[in-house]
Amino acid sequence: MSEGLTLQELTDCGAHQRGHFLLSSGLHSGDYLQCALYLAQPQRAARAGGVLANAIAKAGLAPEIIVAPAMGGLIIGHETARAMGIPFVFTERAEGEMVLRRGFGLERGQPVVVVEDVVTTGRSTREVISILEGLGADVTGVASIVNRSGEAQPFAPLPSRALLEVDFPTWAAEECPLCRDGVPIAKPGSRPIK
Ligand code: ZN
Repeated sequence: MSEGLTLQELTDCGAHQRGHFLLSSGLHSGDYLQCALYLAQPQRAARAGGVLANAIAKAGLAPEIIVAPAMGGLIIGHETARAMGIPFVFTERAEGEMVLRRGFGLERGQPVVVVEDVVTTGRSTREVISILEGLGADVTGVASIVNRSGEAQPFAPLPSRALLEVDFPTWAAEECPLCRDGVPIAKPGSRPIK
């Protein structure tokens, strides 16, 4: 079993696309990443969960429980917990706010690792960390399939691990070299819009 994940594997299943994209942030990019297309095949999700579980163990994060931000983190978080033989806590967005799903909780001092699919700004992950710390849990680190934040340790001082580190440039429309070259732009998953 490979210790990581290659960009080629994401490209092969359409989870990574090259072109000219309008991202949800409004920025332009030549790369688009939709990890759900990788996780859509359960065998791949199980394999990624196994590799992430190894990375968590090797980093000495020693969680008793895995928590993941909705929606992106749920599948990979659950697979990672399965591989580690520990429970998983579901989250959801309720009226825009990240919360633990009803019926779930943690004990004070319980070591927990937060698992995400792709860390971009890290906002959802930080929301979950804040909930867990508010409950008195001991967050020992973060693990993700992909880190595209542009920072090696986006949650410092908390340690984080990723199976794949990528650095995709993004530009404001005025500065986009692809616009300058007249490359048609697409919203990911749709036909070119102009
Ligand atoms: Zn552009």
